[in-house]
Formats: sequence, structure tokens, C-alpha cells
Amino acid sequence: MTGGNWGKVLKVDLTTGEMEDVEIPEQDYRDFLGGSGLAAKWFFDHQGWKAEPLSPENPLMIMNGPLSGTTLPGVSRLEICARSPLTGIWGEASMGGHFSPQLKRTGYDGIIVTGASDKPVYLYVTDDGAEIRDASHLWGKDTYETEELLKQEVGDKRAQVISIGPAGENLVKFACVMNDRGSTAGRCGMGAVMGSKKLKAVVARGNKKFPVADEAAFKQAREKMNELLKFSLVADGLRNFGSNVHMEYGMAIGDVPTKNWRLAYWAPGPEKLGGTAVAESILVKTHSCFACPISCKRIVEVKEGPFALEEGPGSEYEAAAALGTLQLLDDREANHKLNELCNRYGMDVISCGSTLAYATEAFEAGLIGEEQTGGTKLGWNQPRVLIDLVEKTARREGFGNDLAEGVRAMSEKYGGKEFAIHVKGLECPMHDPRALWAMALTYATSIRGACHCADANLYIELGILDVKELGAKRTWPYSVRGKAAQTVAAQKKGVIANSAVICEYAWNAAGGSISDMAMMLNSLTGFGYSVDELAKVGDRIWYLKRALGNLMGVTREDDRLPSRILEPHLEGTTSSLHTAVYPQFMSLVPMQKLKVEGFRNFTAGILSKYLYPNMDKMLTSLNKLPGFSGKRKKLEQGDLEEKQKKTVAFDEMIGEYYRLRDIDEQGRPSRRRLEELGLKQVADALHG
Ligand code: SF4
Repeated sequence: MTGGNWGKVLKVDLTTGEMEDVEIPEQDYRDFLGGSGLAAKWFFDHQGWKAEPLSPENPLMIMNGPLSGTTLPGVSRLEICARSPLTGIWGEASMGGHFSPQLKRTGYDGIIVTGASDKPVYLYVTDDGAEIRDASHLWGKDTYETEELLKQEVGDKRAQVISIGPAGENLVKFACVMNDRGSTAGRCGMGAVMGSKKLKAVVARGNKKFPVADEAAFKQAREKMNELLKFSLVADGLRNFGSNVHMEYGMAIGDVPTKNWRLAYWAPGPEKLGGTAVAESILVKTHSCFACPISCKRIVEVKEGPFALEEGPGSEYEAAAALGTLQLLDDREANHKLNELCNRYGMDVISCGSTLAYATEAFEAGLIGEEQTGGTKLGWNQPRVLIDLVEKTARREGFGNDLAEGVRAMSEKYGGKEFAIHVKGLECPMHDPRALWAMALTYATSIRGACHCADANLYIELGILDVKELGAKRTWPYSVRGKAAQTVAAQKKGVIANSAVICEYAWNAAGGSISDMAMMLNSLTGFGYSVDELAKVGDRIWYLKRALGNLMGVTREDDRLPSRILEPHLEGTTSSLHTAVYPQFMSLVPMQKLKVEGFRNFTAGILSKYLYPNMDKMLTSLNKLPGFSGKRKKLEQGDLEEKQKKTVAFDEMIGEYYRLRDIDEQGRPSRRRLEELGLKQVADALHG
């Protein structure tokens, strides 16, 4: 191997206790990069799709990419992949924090765990190899305690730990894997896969210098990316207010799911739970993943009161919405307490919050009663009930045993499928397709189920990125035209990010360009990718994963969204603001290219001081102007034309998408397309 990768992974069989170094052919790195791309290749080659998710045969793949853990900005990430116990199909989850660089320095590109131990164990990986150690004393401990105890046990504070909490041990279907207390491989139940193998944690500590193909080019790439971030207004927003900076603008345009996706607009969302409100109240300091100049993570403290919280990670946007607005919860401290509990127990905040919101609506609708909940009355804005249910879910206690199965299983048992908001069994993230139409395609066609990180549509729709270099155009809000082509381009970007592996916030804040990605990858690997070649790699990985989905039963029928999130809100109205302000005012693409320090600092100051903190108020006032209020009034009166405009034209978009992707009636990529990408074996497995 020239650089970026070590050329080998550690394979561990927990049933037999055998471990071996497995070499990966260089061509696989060229064709699939690393991270979730290389994991998908392994999964296909070893017929992982035939294994039941919680069976010993399901391979758990903890994978770095060529960028992971190097000193480029925002590359602190790795991917954890396996067949998902929540969805039954391909599962992957991306994690930041500090584990990836330690793994990189052990000399392995990843760890692949098969089999299952009969007693709790953890894996200790260093420069000298790996050991399977007893973890009986850690079983039952939460992720914060586990991390602390393991660092003490190995006697090295620089060792990094990924672990599961009680939720993973109890096979909660949306259990996650945690590092650094607030960094999570959240989605698809990877924590339950670890739990099924009785693998409590992995500890990594390495000292090896990672290989670099061209040191001078690598240094140049690092300087360029840092420079781009220095001038990035997006990075500024993330630094000052965390990812929750989005609550303000998101609520104003109807992008923040509220009251289980029923309510269009709710002022307490930004007022109480938004990033600016947190900055002015419980924020203690910011925190960063390894080598990231953005520091988007929040450290908060609540000194006293019913929801007192020791100094630790605060809610990011997804937690503020899923455990906040989605529950109509207006108590900031309770929201952060719920987030902390999910972190400690090791549960994905999106799936957990979505399941709780579904249950509340089902209770309200009479589908679930006190008989099922053990006497608990569910309702909106009930922080103590939510805390109790989160704890019961992690332990699978009483009604928590139902909640631990997720939204899809709950709705199959109790009914209310129309308000069970998931795609392919994965609960929808906290962005509303009614505000950003392309997100409908993103959710429908993301490989792992409803996912906002699988592609770059969110950033494109918000005016942060464009897709010109991939031959596609950024499209207008509330319009079908070009959305499918935009999504195909956006998916190439997303797949590359999750395989390279890089933090999407950091990469997109730096402009998210494929040519910059090629620059970084080439400096490390020496593979000499052009933009077109890299885009082809993105396509190859995407089609391989789509085929894996098909092999696990995915058809066109599964690429559907619940009608609730395609049709006008049941309560309240959204504005037409997004059409009006986008892209003239909101597009940050040209501004980011202006590298005049004084102007940039002035603009950043205005944004942070005046615009972000008042975004919601400003935009909602704007919405009262005659042009907008007229539209709103019409909608309130049930004007058909307006209603149709607010109904996402999903069928048209997905029809065009299938045509562009060359996907047949059964939802499979064509043999021709697979073979063009060098995936003949995949085509044979799929088409016979
Ligand atoms: S932007 Fe935030 S999540 Fe991404 S690497 Fe930096 S600190 Fe971590």
C-alpha cells in the first residue's frame, strides 16, 4: 500500500477467540475507498446478507477510511456497519470523537467481528496486536462509566473506547455505540449487534505513524482545507451555536418536525431549545472531535432542579428536535437530561424520540391505553413521563419492552401506521420533506432507510452547497424539476464522505467539493483520482449497497414515505418563505468564496450577533408581509391550489429518479449499470 491505508483489517471471531490479520487487495481500496464502502464490499464477498441481524454470523465492521484519523480537519470519523436489527437491511452508522485516530495508529484499517462470546468481553487493540478480555465487571454499566473504567484499567488516558450501554446489552433495536461521551454511531442499532456478541467495548491505543503517499501534497491539502474552514460562514454558525444553529431557520421554514410531524410551526422550539437559547443559558464551553477546528459540540451543565445535569455533552440539533419539538417539549433542561440519558444508556436519539412521539399519539388516539403502559398516562410536553419511558426502554422494562422495538414494530402491533414516521423501518431524521422537497427522495432512496447523512441534499437544499462539478444543478424549492438529478449527484457526495471517511459538517462547511476530496485522497493514497473517477467510485459504492438492500428484500414498495410527511401539516401552516428567500439571500456558496478577511469577519459578526439569534423572529415577521400573509390565509382556508403546492410531488420525483438510476420495476439496478461499474458478481447475485 502506498498510503492512507495499512492494507489490512483485524478479524476477530468471538465464538472461537481466534484473531487474524486479513490483507485487503489494493484494488478494493481504489474501488471502494474504505469506511462503509469497503465494509459493503466485505459484506457482499462474505454473504453477510444471509445472516440474521442478531445472529453470531452477522459481521460487525468497524471501519476507518483513508482520511480517518489523519490530521486533516474533520476526519475524526469511522463507520460501524452490519445488518441492522432495527430494519433487517444494510445498517451503517458514522461516529466522530477520538476513537478513529487511535485505531488508525494501531496499524489496522478496521476491525471485523464475527461470532458471539458466551460471556461479556472487550477487545483491546494496540500496536502489538489484540486481546479479548473479560468485561463481566462492566456489564450493566452505562457508556460514560464504561469509558472511564476502561481507560483506568488499561492504564492509559490516551486510549480510546467505543462502548455500548445497557440498551445494547438488552438488544434495544436502536441501541447505539458511544465514544467520548457525546460522539455516537447512532443509527440502525449497531449497539444491539455488539450486545448480541456480548462485546461491551473496543479499546484502541496506537503509536504508529500513518502512511502518507506524498507528504508535501498532504501538508498542502491540510492547509487548503483549514483555510477554507477559516473563511466558512457555515463553520462559524456551527462553532458559535452547534448544529442546533439550524433550529432558528429550520422552524421558520417548516423544517423542524413538531408534535410527531403534525404541527407546522411552534415558536417555543427556537425560543427554548435553539442553539442561541442554549448559548445564553446552560452552555459551559464548546468541544471538538479530534483535530477539528470547528468545535461544534456543546458542553452544558444544569446545576440544580429536577433535571440537574453534571457538566457534559449537550443536545445536538437532532436531539433538540427528536427529544424536544417532536414531543412538544418546551423545557430545555429536560431536553438535555433526555439526551444525556440516551447517551449513557446508549440509544439513538432520533429513533428513541420518534418512538416516544408515536406512542404519545397512539395513546391520544386510544390505540394504546394504561393497560399497556402500566398505568402511565402519555401526553405532549410531559418531561417526567419521557424520562421514565427512556429508562424503561433501555432496560426493556414493562411498556419499555415495546418501545425498544422502534416505530415500525410498534405500529404493526398497535396500529397507527399513518403516523409511524419511518422508511424501511428506520425512523425519519429531523428534517421535513415538506420544507425541503429533495429530502423526500433522500429518505426514500437512502440505503439504510430514512437518513439525512446518506447524501448532501440537506446542504444543497439549504443553499450551502452546489453540485455543478457533478454536472447537476441546485434546484428551486417546492419544484420537481431537477430534484432527481440533484439527488443522484448528492448521493455520490454522501457515499464518498462515508467511505473516505470525513465529517459531513466539516467537509460541507469547507465547500464540499469533490476536487478537494480528490486532492486529500490523492495526497494520502497516491491513487491519482480525477473528479470523474471519484464520482464513479461514489456510484459504484451506491449501487453495491442498493444491490445489498435488494438481496435483503428491498423493492420499490419500500422506497415509500408515510403520507403524513408529504401532505400539508394537520395543524398550523408553514410559510412560503423558503421560496422567497432562497437562493438570493440564503445561498452561502458565493459568500464562502470571498476570501477577504475583513469582510468575512464583518459578515460572520453580523450573522452570529444579529442574524442567527433572531432568525426565526425575523423570518416569521417577514412572513406577515402582505405577499406572504395572502398565501398563508389561502392555505388556512383550505385553498386547493395552495394545498397542492404544499403537497410534495413525490411520485413524479421518484419516477424520474428510477429512470436516471436505471432501476427496474422490482427496485433492482440493471445488470448493465452494475457491469459498467465493475460489479459483475453483484449483478449475477441479483439477476441470476
Ligand atoms: S464539525 Fe463537529 S462533529 Fe464534525 S468533526 Fe468537527 S467537532 Fe466533530
